Amino acid sequence: MRCYRATPTLLSFRIMSFKLNQKTFSRSQVNQKPSLSFLSNHCYPLQNASTRIPRRTASNCISQKREDETENWTNLNFIRGKKLLSELCTWGIGGPCNYFVQVSDQTLLASAIRYCCERCIPFIIVGNGSNCLFDDSGFEGCVILNRIDFLERIEPGVYRVGSGYQFNRLGVQCTNEGFSGLEFASGIPGTVGGAAYMNAGANGQETADAIDTVEIVTVDGRHQILYRSDLAFGYRMSPFQAMQDLAAIVAVTFCLLPSASAKERQQAYLKKRRLSQPVGERTAGSVFRNPPGMGISAGELIEKAGLKGFRVGSAEVSKVHANFFINTGSSNSREMLELIGLVKAKVKKKFGIQLQEEIQYVGPFCKYSRDKDKLEIC
Ligand SMILES: Cc1cc2nc3c(=O)[nH]c(=O)nc-3n(C[C@H](O)[C@H](O)[C@H](O)COP(=O)(O)OP(=O)(O)OC[C@H]3O[C@@H](n4cnc5c(N)ncnc54)[C@H](O)[C@@H]3O)c2cc1C
Repeated sequence: MRCYRATPTLLSFRIMSFKLNQKTFSRSQVNQKPSLSFLSNHCYPLQNASTRIPRRTASNCISQKREDETENWTNLNFIRGKKLLSELCTWGIGGPCNYFVQVSDQTLLASAIRYCCERCIPFIIVGNGSNCLFDDSGFEGCVILNRIDFLERIEPGVYRVGSGYQFNRLGVQCTNEGFSGLEFASGIPGTVGGAAYMNAGANGQETADAIDTVEIVTVDGRHQILYRSDLAFGYRMSPFQAMQDLAAIVAVTFCLLPSASAKERQQAYLKKRRLSQPVGERTAGSVFRNPPGMGISAGELIEKAGLKGFRVGSAEVSKVHANFFINTGSSNSREMLELIGLVKAKVKKKFGIQLQEEIQYVGPFCKYSRDKDKLEIC
């Protein structure tokens, strides 16, 4: 297998159906692919890349019994109305979701998506929730917690990894085995799927640099392999964020290069992280993207605006790293949103720069009334 290191130039995706002869996957891997054809014509995403909303029509919606607390369905255990989103994210914020289900392989993921589509239940895929702000009033749909966590060594330096695999663990493993490309991943508390979706990065490296292929399932049930050379990534941006027919990323193949100094680099990155970030606090990493072409980071702007330690209730701008906002106790989405809005407004007023969120909002935030200069999140 050849490793890609070229900058992507194609804007459109060359979407390839799964075929054995296109890449050297073993037969056992091929057998893992479930048929997803049941999804056709039932689903389409409406709101954003994070929330997938099945089409609601009288004919294809199965009526729902709302009183059940759990429901078993084809080896899946759906929890109804009880699971708190605060338990599914690093910020520890968020109310209950109508449905919750955890999946550990691609077949179960396919079943969960089918369950949602047949019942017209909006769904979201969550990895470790380390880049999400959930709403206090919860999520009106199904949260599918992704724990597809296999790792296959295809050949030296080439790893095919389930999207629920821990990204920091992968970074440590690959580096220990003498390969470079994912040194930055140790210390990023997300999953491989979340890292690909967000194009997570640090220290001049990003996930896209190490990707060879991404395997996805679409809302109409197709399993596809997308090649890195056809995917246009950017700073904390991936094509998946705007992909209308994406249901979920299921696996990523990384292609890494041998390096004797990778381990040393990784340890230096971790040390730097421990010194410069509020490790151990409840955060979601950097709240804002760094403004492009400014030569100044979002954290520096917030710090220069005098906002380190600034609080709304129990939500606080970290005194260690101003782009990290901490849930210091029993904070909630209302406080966190207000803090985000105030920081944006103050930075805009002082420097004329409009900060843009890196974190992903999930939920009906529009109901909070707010000033024109504050939040504009709907
Ligand atoms: C202490 C700390 C440090 C951090 N440091 C960094 C850093 O250095 N660099 C950096 O880039 N980020 C950093 N982050 C942010 C975060 O860890 C990354 O963005 C991470 O990649 C998110 O992964 P996740 O599994 O938690 O995604 P989630 O937060 O669960 O989801 C994020 C988005 O991805 C989507 N998604 C997740 N999995 C899938 C899937 N399988 N298929 C389709 N969509 C999916 C979700 O629907 C959601 O829209 C940090 C966070 C914390 C808390």
